[in-house]
Amino acid sequence: MKILTIKEIFKKKTLINKKIFIKGWVHTRRDSKKGFSFLNIYDGSCINSIQIIVNNKIKNYKKDVLKLTTGCSVSVIGIIINSIGREQNIEIKAYSIKVIGWINNPETYPISSKKHSMNFLRKFSHLRPRSRIIGSVSRIRHTLSYEIHNFMNKNGFYWISTPLITSLDTEGSGNMFNISTLNENNISYKDKNLIKNNFFGKESFLTVSGQLNAESYACALSKVYTFGPTFRAEKSNTRRHLSEFWMIEPEIAFVSLNEIILFAENMLKYLVTSILNQREDEINFFSKYWKIDLIYRLNKFINDKFIQIEYSEVIKILQKNYKLFNKNIRWGEDLFSEHERFLSEKYFNSTIIIKNFPKNIKAFYMRLNDDNKTVASLDIISPGIGEIVGGSQREERLDFLDKQINSFKLCKKNYWWYRDLRRYGTVPHSGFGLGLERLIMTITGIKNIRDTIPFPRTPYNINF
Ligand code: ATP
Ligand code: MN
Repeated sequence: MKILTIKEIFKKKTLINKKIFIKGWVHTRRDSKKGFSFLNIYDGSCINSIQIIVNNKIKNYKKDVLKLTTGCSVSVIGIIINSIGREQNIEIKAYSIKVIGWINNPETYPISSKKHSMNFLRKFSHLRPRSRIIGSVSRIRHTLSYEIHNFMNKNGFYWISTPLITSLDTEGSGNMFNISTLNENNISYKDKNLIKNNFFGKESFLTVSGQLNAESYACALSKVYTFGPTFRAEKSNTRRHLSEFWMIEPEIAFVSLNEIILFAENMLKYLVTSILNQREDEINFFSKYWKIDLIYRLNKFINDKFIQIEYSEVIKILQKNYKLFNKNIRWGEDLFSEHERFLSEKYFNSTIIIKNFPKNIKAFYMRLNDDNKTVASLDIISPGIGEIVGGSQREERLDFLDKQINSFKLCKKNYWWYRDLRRYGTVPHSGFGLGLERLIMTITGIKNIRDTIPFPRTPYNINF
């Protein structure tokens, strides 16, 4: 007999009165005085669990059914019936139940059917996907990833697998993990140039961004994107930074800053719409969980035009409101989290796009504006989270790029191939990086980025 998932059972209306076979885990068990037990079984295929009614006449009722606890795995053969007076309109009358796996020491099983704190769940990252909340995050993460590829494909983009191991520091921030095969045993201490003995014969790192490589493909295939893990060795232990996170980086030839901004807004709205359409159950669950109206909030995200504002204007607003901040900001300085929050949550109460930052606080590859002071850059700030997108028009003029490479004190030789893109048929092009986990925070209301990725990596935390 074919195993049905709980998702299929709730979806197919034609299964009423049909005999079915399911496998899953016990969420709860309740025994009635009339000689029945009610089991709630989940299998993760959707957010719902299904109720199973077990009659005490079943052979192994006393031996097995009465001993079932949260987390036990079972297989059930039964018939689907319409249920009366319950929020779920169908349930299963069991013919037989088999226990596949028991819970050793149920008293100490961490994932009971009650609500646990996110902090508690994080300590059991190997078991936490069994909780409804992390199960829901996982399904949303899947649908988002799938829809990212779908959106890109529909819009004529090609997916480029850029390398994770690199010798270049794209962001110029120095927050990179070093890769080495050298260890105490194979280091020759007489050797003055250790790096030459290392695996690649050169200093090598885990990438912070696939952008530079993506640019090479955009300058041939016009519309490309990367989607994969990136690594940042930032010692910042905040609720929105991971040491390993996933980034979507579209890169488009013949496109300027204003066009890439519109593209980013469309893409974000498409993705949020897809989640509202396909993951309504999960979104409703999150609304109840946090006691907020997420549906309203996400519809506002989709329907309101994102507010665009120049960096220089932002500084004026912040200076007028200087009393609210720990530090008075001056033109030329980067925004702090408190500034971003004030702007998106209080001042504008909207998703905002800040444009044209001073060149000194942005990366070397961003295109210099005619004012000679700012670069054609953008940050998208989401209320409650902060930056979710950072991007720019790229410097396509070789002489300008060289000036930047010099003033950032980068080694020109290392960028020979990147400079070639400007020497051979250069074109204006633009792109951005969208952090998958920060988007998941925006969509689900999750407050700590550690709960948006299966096994989070952060400073001093490499468990699991
Ligand atoms: P922040 O200022 O928040 O540290 P950033 O300016 O360093 O971010 P970018 O280099 O512009 O970030 O990266 C592009 C996008 O990648 C960001 O907008 C964000 O969504 C995501 N991102 C960057 N760093 C992290 C991180 N440590 N953990 C999770 N996502 C990140
Ligand atoms: Mn940024």
